[in-house]
Amino acid sequence: MKNLTLKTPRGNYTVYVGNVLFLSDVIKKELFSNRKVFVVFDENVPTEFVYNIKNALKRANSDVFLHNFSSGEENKNLESVLKIASKAFEVGITRKDVFFAVGGGVVSDVVGFLSSVYMRGVGFYCVPTTLLSAVDACVGGKNGVDLPEGKNLIGTFYNPEAVFCDTAAFASLNERDIKNALGECVKYALIDGGKLWKYFIDISLNPPENNDYRHIISDNQLTEKLIFACLSVKKRFVEKDQFDKGERAVLNLGHTVGHAIEAMSDYKLSHGECVAKGIVQELRASVNMGFTDKSVLTDVISIFETLGISTDNPFLAEDEIEYIYVDKKRAGDSINIPVIISPGEYEIKNIGISEYKEFLCRL
Ligand code: NAD
Repeated sequence: MKNLTLKTPRGNYTVYVGNVLFLSDVIKKELFSNRKVFVVFDENVPTEFVYNIKNALKRANSDVFLHNFSSGEENKNLESVLKIASKAFEVGITRKDVFFAVGGGVVSDVVGFLSSVYMRGVGFYCVPTTLLSAVDACVGGKNGVDLPEGKNLIGTFYNPEAVFCDTAAFASLNERDIKNALGECVKYALIDGGKLWKYFIDISLNPPENNDYRHIISDNQLTEKLIFACLSVKKRFVEKDQFDKGERAVLNLGHTVGHAIEAMSDYKLSHGECVAKGIVQELRASVNMGFTDKSVLTDVISIFETLGISTDNPFLAEDEIEYIYVDKKRAGDSINIPVIISPGEYEIKNIGISEYKEFLCRL
């Protein structure tokens, strides 16, 4: 088992990464007893996994309530928040009690947001069950829900009390769910430039037989290492910039364009698929602006191709700009864009949106 502790202005929290964590005493250690626990779990998480959590919580002397969440980005909205809040109120969840988010990034964003506003703030714990939420969404304190106008437009900054990342949860993920996470992993590799970047370059040079990436989740040690490596990069930025006012913006690499593509696809393309497309398109724009050497773009495209992740974009850059205008990161007519100079070297550039459009449109 690996541990990573994150510092926040309101105290520290630990991310536990291991296999069959829910059979260990780690929950008992973190959870004060005699608190009611309202567990919101994604409907696609295997029942056995949910029951392991329930039993672990009971061993920690907690009253447990289970609430089934209908999966999908289309349910990441205020309606879901209100539904869960009413249920929680009905069973008597008060300020001294806690929420457990058991699912992917959608469940942790919704439950993280609800926890920050329910009775003006209650504790919450995160149990990421997708690889994407394990390598990214489970830490950093950002949460929120979508509006019809765009993604994550309602939300707060609110950290969990602990994150229990149990790799046993990933056994039921399909190929698309695994690949979904790899776009974010490549983002962290580009930002870090160290061992993680080398890992992906090695994969592109020596791909596994039949491009089978299930080994990433079937080899527990490899899964733990990958999660730990990504979260360690994220930790560096979120600890310095809790409220996303400066350097943390680099974590948005691929997300300005990625969020636009996600909304334009009516959320039929997944977050991770859009981030991969967004990384390539944003890198191409920064090559066009003269900030990035073309070899970086070529390496990234080759990594995604080897991983079997499509970087084709079905939408026109001209149309994406309309969505970039409603992006939270916009300030007036300009936007902060993270630019990778070379792997491990980056800058945040403030660019006029109409000027950026020119560079996005150019091939
Ligand atoms: P998701 O939560 O929709 O999960 C993807 C799919 O996997 C869903 O169909 C879900 O039902 C299913 N699933 C979940 N666990 C499973 C399991 N163990 N076995 C089988 N199926 C399972 O999506 P995601 O890719 O995990 O996360 C994407 C969301 O996270 C987006 O809304 C994105 O904006 C958000 N996000 C937030 C942050 C953050 O810092 N807050 C960071 C990255 C992404």
